[in-house]
Amino acid sequence: MFQKILIANRGEIALRVLRACKELGIQTVVVHSTADSDAMHVRLADESVCIGPPPSRESYLNIHQIVAACEITGADAVHPGYGFLSENAKFADILAAHNITFIGPSGDHIRIMGDKIEAKRTAKRLGIPVVPGSDGAISDEKEAKRVAAEIGYPVIIKASAGGGGRGMKVAHTEVDLEVALQTAKSEAGAAFGDDAVYIEKYLEKPRHIEVQVFGDGAGRGVHFGERDCSLQRRHQKVWEEANSPALNAEERSRIGGICATAIADLGYSGAGTIEFLYENGEFYFIEMNTRLQVEHPVTEAITGIDLVHEQIRVASGGGLSVRQEDIKFNGHAIECRINAEDPRTFTPSPGTITHFHTPGGLGIRVDSGVYSGYKIPPYYDSLIGKLIVHGRNRVECMMRLRRALDEFVVDGIKTTLPLFRDLVGNPDIANGDYDIHWLEKYLAKGE
Ligand code: ADP
Repeated sequence: MFQKILIANRGEIALRVLRACKELGIQTVVVHSTADSDAMHVRLADESVCIGPPPSRESYLNIHQIVAACEITGADAVHPGYGFLSENAKFADILAAHNITFIGPSGDHIRIMGDKIEAKRTAKRLGIPVVPGSDGAISDEKEAKRVAAEIGYPVIIKASAGGGGRGMKVAHTEVDLEVALQTAKSEAGAAFGDDAVYIEKYLEKPRHIEVQVFGDGAGRGVHFGERDCSLQRRHQKVWEEANSPALNAEERSRIGGICATAIADLGYSGAGTIEFLYENGEFYFIEMNTRLQVEHPVTEAITGIDLVHEQIRVASGGGLSVRQEDIKFNGHAIECRINAEDPRTFTPSPGTITHFHTPGGLGIRVDSGVYSGYKIPPYYDSLIGKLIVHGRNRVECMMRLRRALDEFVVDGIKTTLPLFRDLVGNPDIANGDYDIHWLEKYLAKGE
């Protein structure tokens, strides 16, 4: 087992990882920018190292500074959290070259999954169902038209190097396609420095369902069920639940089994998420994330297994603590992402939190790095906390969520809490009856 882990992140996830390390009896080091000297994870860590000024490029993304911090403190492993360097293959390779363990998969696996065309090709080879579309990058308009005619309109053009929903264009007709191809290519070139695009069938009313997987790096793979993350705004997840209200146990075990086998065959190590669109009973792979996800606590709530503990165990060579047959799904869990944003316009609302009171009681978990008097710096993303609620079934979970939201107080800044208070009372949400467009349509109505 590791002696000392360096946490290369900030906010709630840095604290989340720190807690796991403490529970495993591992010493902790955190790195932080000058804007984060007062952060909770910095206060609670055994050691902290300031690695630079506020802009992420000069601190949380500064590989040299982070490696230097490892060397100075004698950390033998790095947990990257999510975002920042968590899916940076070069970072994983550099750490390996310094004999520091990256708590995550190999640089090669990160590289494969970071290239969407390569990821889709790999998924297909591993027996994972994919969205019908071109085999690889589209070379010209003629080929795009031929593929689109084959799979049928509407189609979506996507950037191979894409991320964050950028570089995607939908075409309903052949005329649309010409324009969509050109715009997608130039957007991808400008945003990612790589204008390779591919084409796939556009699904009109899918749900976003993702499977949590783990590989032990020694040829074993397991799945921890799925999460439904269909409630999104601008492709950003807002509310996540496990299990998905749309799946039954048989579908869960079928898609979970396919993913676990794929992970085993890939020889993958650590936590990963295989994301699908789900429509009319069919799953369609869209991408794989090679890291811990923001929404992992809903999986922890229904399985009772600490996924960060598992990541650390696997990375240290200790293997997974559970076999597939040990993983049971208990009750229902929902996570609300609480952002420092205006609940209607979603404009960021940094500033000082004058009062912070979190709900408690059975089945309630709040993961947050903020506190009364904390000043939210304007440099980073606006997630200030996550409320995760667990109940024996979805109805109990929703009632408990409603109660927890009523207790939650964040004063001094605007947050998205009022949005969740509205959603929890909505009949479609109560029935679990929503697809990936539901939230945008609801917000557009301005009810
Ligand atoms: P990114 O990495 O940029 O987030 P993804 O491939 O994960 O890109 O897709 C992001 C979102 O775009 C999906 O959650 C879905 O809302 C939409 N999307 C992607 N592919 C399709 C498709 N074939 N049909 C319909 N919507 C899609």
